[in-house]
Amino acid sequence: MARYTGPVCRLCRREGVKLFLKGDRCYSSKCAFEKRSYPPGEHGQKRTKLTGYGLQLREKQKLKRIYGMSENQFRRYFEKADTMKGITGDNLIQLLERRLDNIVFRMGFARTRREARIFVRHNHVLVNEKKVNIPSFLVKEGDVIEIREKTKETEFMKDILASTQRRSVPEYLEVDREAMKGTVKRLPQREEIILPVNEQLIVELYSK
Ligand code: SF4
Repeated sequence: MARYTGPVCRLCRREGVKLFLKGDRCYSSKCAFEKRSYPPGEHGQKRTKLTGYGLQLREKQKLKRIYGMSENQFRRYFEKADTMKGITGDNLIQLLERRLDNIVFRMGFARTRREARIFVRHNHVLVNEKKVNIPSFLVKEGDVIEIREKTKETEFMKDILASTQRRSVPEYLEVDREAMKGTVKRLPQREEIILPVNEQLIVELYSK
């Protein structure tokens, strides 16, 4: 199944939680979830109690939507996580978190992961001084991520920095906002990635 390209606020309403997919708007009174926190559609306001499979499915959809994955891509991340040492759920989140588009977003060089993905695709991002235009590129410890020189001077980059200035940067990253450059100090640990997701339910879903 292809990646979802419709209105993203519907996704938050569908999942019953704010997924923060729209940058500044998510923190304002314009947030659609603040106004209508029930699922979209004709029967959205009907109460439905989820159990078992339904709960597992919703957790998977949430995580997939936060990182903007298609079904097939997400499944591949899970398969990779499952072959790695350690806890599969932790591995899955660490892999998603290591994606270059996510790192650009976490460093505050994009307002949303979607925007970060476009930046990477359009060659605005360097990894260790080389252009990398693959959003799914997995960063490793010590990698230096930087916005390319020409892009740094643009008005839209300045707007982005102004809009992300109050956002906190995870401990595993070090960012020099003025230089528009950051370093991956170490790989992210599950406990420092705050997500409204119970990944164990996703593991159970895929282990059936
Ligand atoms: Fe979700 Fe609200 Fe952000 Fe829309 S504005 S993406 S509903 S958190």
